[in-house]
Amino acid sequence: MKVLVIGGVAAGTKAAAKLKRLNRNAQVKILTKSKDVSYAGCGLPYYISGMIPTRDQLIVNTPEKFSGLTGAEVVTGVEAVGLDAEQKTLSVRGEDGAVYQEGYDKLVIATGASPVVPKLDGCDLPGVFTMRTPDDAQGVKDYIKEHSCRTALVVGCGFIGLEVGENLQKLGLNVTMIDFADQILPGIFDSEMAEYAKRQLTASGSKILLGTALSKVEKTAEGFSVTTTNGHLNTDLVVLCIGVRPNTGFLADTGLELFKGTIVVNEKMETNLPDVYAAGDCAMVKNQLTGAAKWSPMGSTANISARVLAEQAVGGSKTYGGCLGTAVVKLSDTLNGGRTGLTEAQAKEAGFDAVSVVCITDDKAHYYPGASFFATKLIADRTTHRLLGIQVLGSGAVDKMVDIAVTGIAMNATLEQFDTLDYAYAPPFSTAIHPFVQAVYILENKISGEFDTFTPREYLDGKAKAYQVIDAMPAPSIPNALWIDLSKVDGVLPECPNKDAKLLLVCARGKRGYFLQNRLKAAGYTNTKVLEGGITFNRVEVKKKGKLSPDDIKRVKALGCLWDKRTEDRFNVRVITRNGRLTAEEQLAVAQAAEQYGNGEVTMTTRLTLEIQSVPYDKLEEMMEFLAGYGLSTGGTGSKVRPVVSCKGTTCQYGLIDTFHLSQVIHERFYEGYHQVTLPHKFKIAVGGCPNNCVKPSLNDIGIVGQRVPNPNLDLCRGCKVCQVEKNCPIHTAKVVDGKVNIDPAACNHCGRCLDTCPFGVMKEFTAGYQVYVGGRWGKKVQQGLPLSKIITSEEEVLNVVEKAILLFRKEGITGERFADTVARLGLPYVEEMLLGDALLAEKDENLKQTVTGGASC
Ligand SMILES: Cc1cc2nc3c(=O)[nH]c(=O)nc-3n(C[C@H](O)[C@H](O)[C@H](O)COP(=O)(O)OP(=O)(O)OC[C@H]3O[C@@H](n4cnc5c(N)ncnc54)[C@H](O)[C@@H]3O)c2cc1C
Ligand code: SF4
Ligand code: SF4
Ligand code: SF4
Repeated sequence: MKVLVIGGVAAGTKAAAKLKRLNRNAQVKILTKSKDVSYAGCGLPYYISGMIPTRDQLIVNTPEKFSGLTGAEVVTGVEAVGLDAEQKTLSVRGEDGAVYQEGYDKLVIATGASPVVPKLDGCDLPGVFTMRTPDDAQGVKDYIKEHSCRTALVVGCGFIGLEVGENLQKLGLNVTMIDFADQILPGIFDSEMAEYAKRQLTASGSKILLGTALSKVEKTAEGFSVTTTNGHLNTDLVVLCIGVRPNTGFLADTGLELFKGTIVVNEKMETNLPDVYAAGDCAMVKNQLTGAAKWSPMGSTANISARVLAEQAVGGSKTYGGCLGTAVVKLSDTLNGGRTGLTEAQAKEAGFDAVSVVCITDDKAHYYPGASFFATKLIADRTTHRLLGIQVLGSGAVDKMVDIAVTGIAMNATLEQFDTLDYAYAPPFSTAIHPFVQAVYILENKISGEFDTFTPREYLDGKAKAYQVIDAMPAPSIPNALWIDLSKVDGVLPECPNKDAKLLLVCARGKRGYFLQNRLKAAGYTNTKVLEGGITFNRVEVKKKGKLSPDDIKRVKALGCLWDKRTEDRFNVRVITRNGRLTAEEQLAVAQAAEQYGNGEVTMTTRLTLEIQSVPYDKLEEMMEFLAGYGLSTGGTGSKVRPVVSCKGTTCQYGLIDTFHLSQVIHERFYEGYHQVTLPHKFKIAVGGCPNNCVKPSLNDIGIVGQRVPNPNLDLCRGCKVCQVEKNCPIHTAKVVDGKVNIDPAACNHCGRCLDTCPFGVMKEFTAGYQVYVGGRWGKKVQQGLPLSKIITSEEEVLNVVEKAILLFRKEGITGERFADTVARLGLPYVEEMLLGDALLAEKDENLKQTVTGGASC
């Protein structure tokens, strides 16, 4: 028997290897277009980031190794271009371009799929990639290296797009991900689950723009200008991850039955043509649950169905029962996602009386290190209680939850059948009642009416609008909500005696809300609902009735929202600009936020942050989330290190240091790095490129100024009548005295303007460095900062001095005093000794553990 297999990756190699094992005498020959066979497409994103260090690790087998291992022949670089099923011959284009015929007894089509490349301008430019083969991943890696890419745009927020985005971020690139759909993972997760996942990703620094379709890519001098339906983006690299299309073009007019371009197969993986089989991404299988046609372009489906195919091709009886759309994905270091079965929307579409619950459960014993939680959505049929689907998000083993559901769904299990199953438990792995079973119990309670809820979707759709939010947390946690102490509820609530009142019970996860509902029902309350998933899953905002309280104002001030005193409830929101530098895309986002949430105005503060004007209190959180989608944060208030300010010394003709770079490092290390650290008062840092002091570094708590200290070689000085050095010194401190140039060390500000001005080489030597000022301030009490006696000559030492100053302020500062006061109280000699010595850094961990109370009022 001669079996031809077209395609040599997942389905092709699996079918060929199994066929040879089942029938050693069969002649099995793989014909494949690619040079590589049997590669791990699923590992490509991790190769990009370097998590999988070498390309070889992606290649499971070379053609030679595969042949040696299985006995199947492998021919690479050839393409099947036609099929005559009656004659049982395949037309093949060889490497030399000539087409020849190859006969078969049985034919396996495993040609997979190819990435979709939209017919838009610029999608074929070098630097615009798709992601399917090891060559694609290698191409991206090489391009990043060759072009020193710092930014990337990933088009498509499905599994592959999000994986590629995460791994590009791991490489240190600033990544923007866009999708034309209004949610990530469309069709895979229900919208509220996708929204939750997006919020988590945004909070950990991902930039995701939804409802944003790619329109055009244009090459620019620096990289690419990308036009989207939501404006322009500049990027160094583009990766298109917008889906795949089956490789079946060559089968048109062959009599083979196709459905939406995929090959129709039965449960034996047979096509409608005799002795022709298909498996993998090129084939259409069925949904095991509904029986409907289902395309499952997944490595798992390809492997499993190809194994069945091989059994069938040798006369076996195994069949493929279809797939469930099972998938699992690592979205970030702290978020995994998994799903199987039907989403709620799909279940309703398929005619089920679908009921769902979203619940938060521990993923392992809560006291065990690394314990976290699963956000699980379970879907079942209300009438039969049959399990229909699951979606899980969490930092732990979401696949475990999904795989239990797979087994249950495949066996038509009802919820109740899980109730007493003996799942494995020990603290490092699970909870005494398995989190899957806990989710089942919660859904059972909901179906029985014991647990009355609003789902997160219903809440988002406004179904709870007429309900009063009751905060059921252990301590008041939801601003403006009525807090009820669960432990004291034993009858009618004095705060709310109307037993028919509509009450929405909200706690962290839903559990305390459920307990409270239970007590309130017992007391005769008729209209209570618990918000599924509590504030862990939902964004709950309670509109303030009447005037804002000082606590409300204080709470949002800490987030960078400053009350506009002319109004009752409007705030100016500070957007951190990383020292005044925003990309065009970020500026557009700020402008859009101002239009959408504020009064359309953006002002600039003296410290290079932007303020979006007049945002209503109720819109603050939503706007901050919108900005976070573009990687922008608000803040810059409180007793903390404030955003750094620097001049444009990097590009300024007088600049002596790279101020953009230094302030960026300071921003990352001390604004972001010390963001959670409280100081006795605010702490401001400024970086100046030269002694011209454009940003007044010496009026900051710590100021850094670029320096060039001349080191004249007086042996060469001839005492010229017109001294060039004297002429070029802007502050007239260089003077010829007694036939030699003289620079007063006390007066010279180290601006370096005299360097290289002497035709006789007197002014060639200099020391480059940084002058550091400590204890300056501006405002109510102006104080000039004091220079440290030493010019610091390395950037790392400057950064150490900044860190030591922050630590010294924490250690010795008194709540409410500025660093200027601390320096004055301690005296410069002691402060200098501490800032130039090692003690403060040595005790850093201890220092950061100490509680400090902040005294800043703005
Ligand atoms: C980045 C990425 C991540 C992924 N992650 C996962 C994951 O986590 N889990 C999961 O289950 N799946 C994942 N997948 C999907 C999985 O890789 C595919 O489903 C799987 O590779 C399909 O295998 P296949 O053999 O059907 O097709 P393919 O892998 O597409 O292989 C088909 C082969 O046939 C060749 N061919 C095509 N036409 C012809 C022709 N006319 N003549 C000769 N040869 C031809 C092609 O060149 C190719 O080599 C991922 C895919 C990618 C790209
Ligand atoms: S301080 Fe110096 S380097 Fe900075 S902007 Fe002013 S003149 Fe230029
Ligand atoms: S420093 Fe140079 S220019 Fe000035 S007096 Fe000396 S030799 Fe002449
Ligand atoms: S470094 Fe500047 S201030 Fe000092 S002598 Fe030269 S020009 Fe004058």
